[in-house]
Amino acid sequence: MSFLRSDLAQLQAYVSHPGGPTKTPVDILDTNESPYDLPVDLKKTLAEHYQNQIATNRYPDGGHGPLKERIAAYVNRSGGLQGEIQAAQISVGNGSDELIRSLLIATCLGGEGSILVADPTFSMYRILAQTLGVAAVAITRKPDDFSWDLAAAQAMIDKPEGPPVRVVFVVHPNSPTGQCLTPQEIAWLQSLPADILVVVDEAYFEFSQKTLVAEVLQRPNWVILRTFSKAFRLAALRVGYAIGSSAVIEALEKVRLPYNLPGFSQAAAQLALDHGDHLLATLSETRQERDSLYQALGQLPNFRVWPSEANFLYGRLEPWGAPQDHHLGAIVESLKEQGTLIRHTGGGLRISVGTPAENQRLLDRLADYLRSLPEHP
Ligand SMILES: *Cc1c(COP(=O)(O)O)cnc(C)c1O
Repeated sequence: MSFLRSDLAQLQAYVSHPGGPTKTPVDILDTNESPYDLPVDLKKTLAEHYQNQIATNRYPDGGHGPLKERIAAYVNRSGGLQGEIQAAQISVGNGSDELIRSLLIATCLGGEGSILVADPTFSMYRILAQTLGVAAVAITRKPDDFSWDLAAAQAMIDKPEGPPVRVVFVVHPNSPTGQCLTPQEIAWLQSLPADILVVVDEAYFEFSQKTLVAEVLQRPNWVILRTFSKAFRLAALRVGYAIGSSAVIEALEKVRLPYNLPGFSQAAAQLALDHGDHLLATLSETRQERDSLYQALGQLPNFRVWPSEANFLYGRLEPWGAPQDHHLGAIVESLKEQGTLIRHTGGGLRISVGTPAENQRLLDRLADYLRSLPEHP
């Protein structure tokens, strides 16, 4: 289509569950959501709120005021702060994906800068950058523990091949590999000059309980991203938020669409925060399940699994190094035929922690497959 930008022709649309529909019932262990829907009493409260309080002919609150107040209170409480984070330091997005795109628009658009990531990591940074014509450069994590080659990262900043690196995107803990940033990596990020934005994506904070949010109080070039899509069980309603200095937050507010978050989603996020303790009560089960799944996967032949601080585990076929993508693709296909979805990404398999029954089925199916492989795939 000649009216389309020529570089768009190279891009593929994002697919959440590649390969299309599966037979039901299906265990969805490929998108890292909570396995538990919102409790039915909260759904009822939300439905009543919808019926009585939301006039659908009117635009929603475009400033997200009450929601930002509650988010700020939660961020302070959960981060051990004394109220230092103000509502004015929060921007709310239609999922944190929207905020990632807004950050790119506010920093790199028009050839002004490129982004730096450490692979394997969340694919959306690069995908969204590409849709905006923003260049992305990447270092590869060390194969043993997925730590960064900091000298390589520094070299990309000191001697850029294209536009200067304007944004570094990190996930804490990382997806798909599951580790939090190391002290060395944090120190390196802290050493970056003020004209580079550091984006710390804490989508899995509720599982790790580790946050760098206090950094934004001292560093105007840091921003933290969080989401309601994972531990808070609201993926369907698309609510994410950014916490940053007033400079970053003002920029995000400038570039976002006016009524970016539907009234229903705003109400749901507020409800989730009001009942946070109730909703997050399942996290201890998820952590226990993750740790026993980690132990069990570690016993499987031809497979190596890494410790994780999130609600998913990452594994690769052993010995790593040989081309294994076609084996991994075959594993994903075989599990899918049996009703378990997992994700093939970054040269390995990412498995979301589900309910105990889902995890057991995953384990049995993967064990069957791996036992059928030759000793060295
Ligand atoms: C799931 C996830 C998100 C959440 O995206 P939403 O758009 O808020 O649903 C953000 N970052 C990472 C690394 C994720 O894994």
